[in-house]
Amino acid sequence: MKRLWILMFAAALSFGQAVVIRTSALLDGKGHVLKNTDLVIEGGRITAIRDAKGKAAIDLTGTTVMPGWIDTHIHATWYFNADGRLEQGGRGAKSTPQQAALAAAANLYATLMGGFTTVQSLGAELDADLRAQIASGAIAGPRLLTSLRQLDENTGDPAQIRQFVRRMKAGGADVVKLFATASIRDGGRMTMTPEQITAACGEATAQGLRSVVHAHSSDGARAAVMAGCTAIEHGTFLDDATLELMARRGVYFDPNFLVLHNYLDNKSKFLGIGNYTEEGFAAMEKGLPLVAEVLKRARTHRVKVVLGTDGVAGAHGRNAEEFIYRVKDGGDTPLDALTSGASVAAESLGMADRIGAIAEGMQADLVAVEGDPLTDITAVRRVAFVMKGGKIYRYGR
Ligand SMILES: [Zn+2]
Repeated sequence: MKRLWILMFAAALSFGQAVVIRTSALLDGKGHVLKNTDLVIEGGRITAIRDAKGKAAIDLTGTTVMPGWIDTHIHATWYFNADGRLEQGGRGAKSTPQQAALAAAANLYATLMGGFTTVQSLGAELDADLRAQIASGAIAGPRLLTSLRQLDENTGDPAQIRQFVRRMKAGGADVVKLFATASIRDGGRMTMTPEQITAACGEATAQGLRSVVHAHSSDGARAAVMAGCTAIEHGTFLDDATLELMARRGVYFDPNFLVLHNYLDNKSKFLGIGNYTEEGFAAMEKGLPLVAEVLKRARTHRVKVVLGTDGVAGAHGRNAEEFIYRVKDGGDTPLDALTSGASVAAESLGMADRIGAIAEGMQADLVAVEGDPLTDITAVRRVAFVMKGGKIYRYGR
């Protein structure tokens, strides 16, 4: 029966007809809850929102409907190889390039099925091809934004960094990713100079690109805020003064629980590779309560918090676990956590006019879950419906 509905729906869309979706509980992505509402979908967009009445082609009553979720920080190309070990494709990989590409496509498929209709990959060059394949409808995945590469203290002097950013722009990057500090596994200290950070974010702004900054320590994050960077990732050791400065300057904050849990849950698949040492794992375990604490402080300072997972191998398709950690450990209300992954994330990506909210004129990106995530945040695990750009990718669990 569901199959028949999908066929009828697809037929209606191909004739350009409006399709009505009935909902009983709807979160608009901006913090509002609407009851017994019909959504009218036409040409891939939401063209009307009105009280439920008459016939509806798609009945989502009994579920909770939201804007398709947005993850502002993933690594689409990280996967586990046939031996169950971390790989990112490229040199030294046991997998063939073809296997690496298929693994990345599978990651993005899983992410879409998990309710995420937009992701930002920070990032690898393969992302450009994945982005094109998804945009053309050839493969199923979320809308994909990418940095293509990352820059750090070894990229060069400020002039070389500016040149690097211009090359990324010319290559089709949507965003610039930089490492202002070391990994948490290496202590998270500041690694780029303020001049290097200013060159990276300043040139990104000049090129019309956003810039997102890996920063654990306050000095690295402060330099990024002063350089006009768009968002701070992780921020494990941020002090109150830095959070207050971020709030005043409108810099987005993306603290991540899932990445640390995912590493700890899949330890044997990472241990022994690069800085995935016993000491590194101990540092990540110690970081978890700090992430919880810094998120709570960020909320008191009214920093704009976005949802990002830093989703690496093992996390793709489980991105929604971040909502659960943020509520259960980070003290977020379910509504705040969900809004982080909707309108706030969309705003941070410069896409608030298209995605991240259920409103007339917006892209028809929807996710529905069984149950009420406002009373039980684990409902985000029970995805029952996914639509992207008016096309159904998932209907049923
Ligand atoms: Zn990352």
